[in-house]
Amino acid sequence: MPSQRQLFLKHLAQTSDSPLMLEMISAEGIYMHDVNGKEYIDLISGIGVSNVGHRHKKVVEAIKNQVDKHLHVMVYGEFVQSPQVKLAEALTNTLPESMNSVYLVNSGSEAIEGAIKLAKRYTGGSEIISCNNSYHGSSHGALSLTGSESFKRNYRPLLPGIQHIDFGDINHLNSITEKTAAFVIETVQGEAGVRYASSEYWKAVRKRCNETGTLLILDEIQCGFGRTGKFWAFNHYEIIPDVVVSAKGMGGGMPIGCFISNKEIMHVFTENPVLGHISTFGGHPVSAAAALATIGVIHDENLLNDITEKEELFHNLLNHNKIKEIRSKGLMMAVEFESYDVLKPIIDKAIDLGVVTDWFLFNDQSMRIAPPLNISKEEIKKACKVVLQAIDSV
Ligand code: PMP
Repeated sequence: MPSQRQLFLKHLAQTSDSPLMLEMISAEGIYMHDVNGKEYIDLISGIGVSNVGHRHKKVVEAIKNQVDKHLHVMVYGEFVQSPQVKLAEALTNTLPESMNSVYLVNSGSEAIEGAIKLAKRYTGGSEIISCNNSYHGSSHGALSLTGSESFKRNYRPLLPGIQHIDFGDINHLNSITEKTAAFVIETVQGEAGVRYASSEYWKAVRKRCNETGTLLILDEIQCGFGRTGKFWAFNHYEIIPDVVVSAKGMGGGMPIGCFISNKEIMHVFTENPVLGHISTFGGHPVSAAAALATIGVIHDENLLNDITEKEELFHNLLNHNKIKEIRSKGLMMAVEFESYDVLKPIIDKAIDLGVVTDWFLFNDQSMRIAPPLNISKEEIKKACKVVLQAIDSV
């Protein structure tokens, strides 16, 4: 009989010719367990998803309660579904008053698609600006915004009218003009290997978008939901976006995404044509219940209170002459080595020793560290010890 691994390779479409192929059968908190009973520390939260840890009991409870009530009952936007309403209210409570209308979808890419359609409709423009080395998703629109030629090259034609500028460079903001419908930018760049910009930059971005009537769309799919130590990464800067986009960590392990804006802006989807943006499963009640519980956990357990201390602990512990630099914003961290060839065996060894990390799409000499926010200081020490052991062993 073929093994699960053989069937995985045979029947599941592959995204690379070297998948990690770990076979997890359970996960709890920061830990995952494979089919052989081996325990792993998940130092990347399933890539930016398990911000409240795997299977947080409040999230699991909310899922079970909702499953006992109803699953899908109607496409998004027609019925008053309690989990969606409560979630939307809770989300807007985390945001400035102007951001009071939530559109629920299923994933990050989908949320980006909705946000750029919104900007086109609201401004009447079609040009969009995003950043070099940005990642916004794999669907055609989101891919068009993504700032990597190698990702896009073989999928053209993509969306026309898209220009890329350098993240964090005030001099490039003049590329935003009255013709620009939206400036789509990650508040902290993820796949570029954790890059952040100055407060001055963000003020200049807001000013330029105001001058040109351009919607400022912040992609917080990876950096939002507490990852950087504030609920939204833009809370680090004195700006308010026109649209914020979320997914990944939002669902506490369930698939869900959203884009949030002002009611007046969002209104454009209701007319000319009516049903201008629709989704069958957007805001699935079970995912919405999980997302609501996730917000509750972040607040009730004060998960953001000691993120800076934990960030510092990582910096202090990961002290090694092979480490060139550590860039971080809260628990979104990139540990840079000389090259991918130096890093890859370290990652393999760490996995061998029971700590899962990886690298970034556009920065393959940096190790991604983005653990569940509720990792304890003892667990950080344990994980860093293994990472250092892995570095020493290669
Ligand atoms: N934007 C950012 C910043 C992301 O990190 C990701 C996912 N890596 C996406 C968009 C796309 O999200 P999804 O994979 O859910 O479509």
